[in-house]
Amino acid sequence: MPPELTAALALCRHLPSPPGIALRIIELAQDPEAELSTVADIIGIDMALSARMLRIANSPLYASRRRIENLGQALTMLGLNATLCLALGFTVTQGLVACGESGHDLRERAWRRSILSALAASQLGQARGLRRLEELMLAGLMQDIGILALAQSHPDAYLPLLREAADNPMLLAREREHLQCSHADVGALVASGWDLPRYLVDAIARSEDDTLSDDDFQACVQLSGSVADIWLDADSDAARGRALEQVHDRLHLDSAQFDRMLARIGKALPTIASLFDAPLATPARVQLLIDHAQELATLRSLRQAQDVEQAHRRADEFEARARRLAEQAHRDALTGVLNRRQLDTVLEQEFLRATRHGRPLSVVFIDLDDFKKINDAHGHLTGDEVLRAFASMLQEQLRASDTVARYGGEEFVALLPNTSETAALEVIRRILANVVSTPMVMLQEGPLFVTFSAGVATQGGNERFADVQDLLRAADDVLYRSKNLGRNRVIARARTDTAATAPPLVTGSAA
Ligand code: GH3
Ligand code: MG
Ligand code: MG
Repeated sequence: MPPELTAALALCRHLPSPPGIALRIIELAQDPEAELSTVADIIGIDMALSARMLRIANSPLYASRRRIENLGQALTMLGLNATLCLALGFTVTQGLVACGESGHDLRERAWRRSILSALAASQLGQARGLRRLEELMLAGLMQDIGILALAQSHPDAYLPLLREAADNPMLLAREREHLQCSHADVGALVASGWDLPRYLVDAIARSEDDTLSDDDFQACVQLSGSVADIWLDADSDAARGRALEQVHDRLHLDSAQFDRMLARIGKALPTIASLFDAPLATPARVQLLIDHAQELATLRSLRQAQDVEQAHRRADEFEARARRLAEQAHRDALTGVLNRRQLDTVLEQEFLRATRHGRPLSVVFIDLDDFKKINDAHGHLTGDEVLRAFASMLQEQLRASDTVARYGGEEFVALLPNTSETAALEVIRRILANVVSTPMVMLQEGPLFVTFSAGVATQGGNERFADVQDLLRAADDVLYRSKNLGRNRVIARARTDTAATAPPLVTGSAA
């Protein structure tokens, strides 16, 4: 800054000095020992300031659930630091806009930009996860204080520059050309002269640097003006595009985060603008941008909700598929009943359970009769079909608690837990009767019927087998006997049956 300007500013009688209350708050802001109660006492003296503090505490900026009723509550909620910042913002800037007749519209425009920048700086900070939001707000508010100071101290030289500059970069270029300094330099000088906190003086001094600062706080202050321009520029879409690009590059906010921030600014704007005595509405075009962003956000959250639902559905599908795969490993590929390996497992479990609870477990060995002839007469594929039809019929006619397995070839095993030998015999006889009267396959030459032979052995009741293999072998033995007796029958192992030649105790034949 040229020395002559420094001198001019220092000597300028018209440069507003902060009101008395502001001076006291500045003092407190510099005092590390300051207490909230002292600040409250000072603010309490000024009715207008008290009302503003109360209103800002109830504004959307501080979404407190309960309504804040008095100054004490407001300041307690805000805390010492925020209280000092906001009180500074309200008091120090008083009088900067109003005084002087000429260029009133220009000063008002600059003031509107300051208020928008204040909101933008704090919202950028919030989106970026910074903590010093009131300091950001104050720095955003004060960064263009140099414009107001210059407009007041050098209206003849400065107001034409201000009027001719279409935007902030152009204003800076003209300031540098005509004044050899920028409004940021002047603002920092004024702030320093008023004894404002150091961070604030620095933030103002660097607010118009050509490059964005590495410091997030400072970068938020620098970017806040571009965000403010979305509300002020004639072409708000273009202004939004420029601001988004800068904010994305420096603070890495994506467009959704950026638009949410715009919506927050739009929501807080009416209260904040009226608190700072600047009638400031959101232009229709900006409101459209905000509305559109909100629609997008709603859509996005809807889609996320759908995604969650879809994710659940897919997880269920995967689980079901995994279950089916695991099932398949247990099942016979041709008929869908349990395979022999799984039969061994289930048989072992059922055998243990029956023994433990002293309940009967019947095992039935079933073998289709003359199956080879079916294959020979009608082909293997028809044989396969018969096996499938028979297996499903067997499964259907047993209880859900029973187990059907393919032992191999045309041999099946049924496990009937909690079923006595007599009951099992009855059940299998009934099934045999149904099987022989039901065509397994419809062939061109007519329906194809089958018969089977079966042997029943039961653990529990009168018999105790040492293990599952013993039990299974016993059932197989009885089956062998039923084959020998002419097939198409179900035989239970005789309770008194000790000799292979002994006649079966119970014989059932569907024939
Ligand atoms: P028996 O009444 O004495 O049981 O006579 P069988 O012809 O039923 O018995 P055998 O053991 O002589 O023949 C069984 C036939 O079952 C021989 C075999 O080719 C056939 N077989 C085994 N597994 C399958 C299969 O998966 N599909 C088809 N189509 N046939 C099979
Ligand atoms: Mg057979
Ligand atoms: Mg066989």
